[in-house]
Amino acid sequence: VNRQKPGHAESRPGGVTSKRPIALNASLTVLAGVGPKHAAMLSRLGIKTLGDFLYNFPRRYDDYSALKPIRELFYGQVVTVIGTITTAGGRQVRNGKMSIFEAIINDGTGSLRLTFFNQPWLVNKLKVGNAISVSGRVDQYLGRMVMTSPEWEPVEVENLHTNRIVPIYPLTQNVTQHWLRGLTNQVVKYWAPKLTDHLPGDICQAAGLMDLGTALLQMHLPTSMEKLHDARQRLAFDEIFFLQLGALRQKRDWQSVPGRIFEVDDTWISERITSLPFTLTAAQQNAIQDVRSDLISGKPMNRLLQGDVGSGKTIVAALASAMVNLSGAQSAIMAPTSILAGQHFRTFQSLLVDGNGPLKPGQLRLLVGDTPEGEKQEIYSGISSGAIRIVIGTHALIEDPVSFADLQFIVVDEQHRFGVEQRASLRSKGTNPHLLVMTATPIPRSLALTLYGDLDLSVMDELPPGRQMIPTHILLPGERERAYSLIRSQVQAGRQAFIIYPLVEESDKLDALAATQEQERLQKDVFPDLKVALLHGRMKPAEKDAIMLAFHARQYDILVSTTVIEVGVDVPNATVMMIESANRFGLAQLHQLRGRVGRSGYQSYCLLIPEHEDTAENERLQAMAETNNGFVLAERDLQQRGPGEFLGTRQAGFATSLKVASLSDMPLLEKARQQAQELFNRDPGLQNPEYSLLLEALTRFWGKGKGDVS
Ligand code: ADP
Ligand code: MG
Repeated sequence: VNRQKPGHAESRPGGVTSKRPIALNASLTVLAGVGPKHAAMLSRLGIKTLGDFLYNFPRRYDDYSALKPIRELFYGQVVTVIGTITTAGGRQVRNGKMSIFEAIINDGTGSLRLTFFNQPWLVNKLKVGNAISVSGRVDQYLGRMVMTSPEWEPVEVENLHTNRIVPIYPLTQNVTQHWLRGLTNQVVKYWAPKLTDHLPGDICQAAGLMDLGTALLQMHLPTSMEKLHDARQRLAFDEIFFLQLGALRQKRDWQSVPGRIFEVDDTWISERITSLPFTLTAAQQNAIQDVRSDLISGKPMNRLLQGDVGSGKTIVAALASAMVNLSGAQSAIMAPTSILAGQHFRTFQSLLVDGNGPLKPGQLRLLVGDTPEGEKQEIYSGISSGAIRIVIGTHALIEDPVSFADLQFIVVDEQHRFGVEQRASLRSKGTNPHLLVMTATPIPRSLALTLYGDLDLSVMDELPPGRQMIPTHILLPGERERAYSLIRSQVQAGRQAFIIYPLVEESDKLDALAATQEQERLQKDVFPDLKVALLHGRMKPAEKDAIMLAFHARQYDILVSTTVIEVGVDVPNATVMMIESANRFGLAQLHQLRGRVGRSGYQSYCLLIPEHEDTAENERLQAMAETNNGFVLAERDLQQRGPGEFLGTRQAGFATSLKVASLSDMPLLEKARQQAQELFNRDPGLQNPEYSLLLEALTRFWGKGKGDVS
């Protein structure tokens, strides 16, 4: 058995840190047997320098560490056997189209037949009398134990491919597992023990981590599953720790520029609040206070407002932009869909313009892709002259012709729907503007702090008073009639309903078709006496908006829709959310959809119809039926599907820079975050020479194509 000695970090004479060995930057051709062609092949795997081998981790491992006497083998086992070859020979089959090489090995307790396909050269390698080590799965052929195409090595060499936990690397064309494993082994074994750990010793110790050299050796050549686990923990820690340090640095950079101060007095605030049609929740009031103190801090606000669906985030954004407007500066509110932008526009209108609101009608405008050209021109000029104080819109806001006179406040709603670049490009339209991003994706606090370490966090964990639990039922496809009768009785009581159809195909067109046909069927056969509207992604934004407005104004009883309805839509009179083929949706999406109802004091219902009876057992549907709490569901979703699916663009970007760490490992996140924060408090610029290696490693981590993290 091949046992690696633990790596010894290079000593640091007199406390002077040694740099990362320069040779690790050398190109691959310095390796014996690697020419420019090989180097080109390896670069397709992202391996360009010697150092890259260290971090090109196995995709998985085959555990061949169980060494067994042949007599004790049984069918299906994955084992390693050592024996002497007693017979060996090859033959052609299928008219010479295929060759088979067979050998029998004996270890004194029994014999085992080995079969290899299309490897005729083995004739020269596996010769009678040779002792070899063989790893693979035991098969049965005609009642005898055999191994088909096992891994094998001569026994006199140190085991790399057999008789150990064998690393399996991702491959590319012309790169074989054996060759890559051999090269990696050569580089890792030589270099890993020579590395000086970039993590300061006290952090390693406090966090109970394996040292870097050992961790890298163990990742590639694990001596046991326990060691492998510790190695992963160490390297995962590095990733989260770097992520955190980067975020903290970014936050400091952001805060190093001045942000304009917007002071508003208490009476103005309380007047605005009392003029609202409802009383703010305590969570809303806290969020408004957070925003208010950011606006007087002299630093640009970078705040994430996280609140479950229906918690009332819009009003916070509206009040904040009204504060900025008091000094004559401008605000931009960006939403992911024109439906949502239109809805925000109307909300702002009623809160800030109508009655004797602080804004005059022309000072608040809506800009979406579909805004008529003439009107667009007029809005552009209003924005650049400063006549327009608050503009609400979609991506249209970041287009080139949009140029602000004095943009000081930006709100990005449903921020997970936007990419990093889109937020950055809106921000670049002002000079150090205040930024408020809002999300209804509730995520556990330690995850939020990891992903958004560069932002300040306000959490609204409270729904407006009077909201009732939304009972959620899973109905079998055969029970659809019951859903229809609930809808009918709710409509009779004056309420409205949504019926949602999922993304069935990777095509807008087909989904639109499915929804269109269903709408026709429902209108004709099921609800001939009711008014059934249709909404789907293929409609023009203006059409969608018109339908939404009409539905909002109760001109329709039922809205049949694809998932375009998912984010943010607010129709308080709607009380039934019926979701067809519900098993096709993700948990976060289902929760968002359910959040379209229960937005008033009326009792609301959510009905989930899976496609088939057997999909009713679906874990996500069960979870929906069990709880209304978005935070609980978020944790479930994270456990069930991992963070990639659950999080949006920005987060997905992060996730790809994490090779080892899992964002669902909360204890690890917490540990790494804490250590990063402590170190940052001690030495934010990592200027102490003791941290020079860490700074280098951090720069390497962040250098890989990531700039702005928010
Ligand atoms: P979300 O946080 O999902 O964006 P919205 O801002 O769309 O929520 O608000 C949801 C609904 O709740 C809206 O109809 C809004 O007018 C209403 N609302 C917001 N705050 C309160 C409150 N404090 N009391 C009662 N209703 C409220
Ligand atoms: Mg919203």
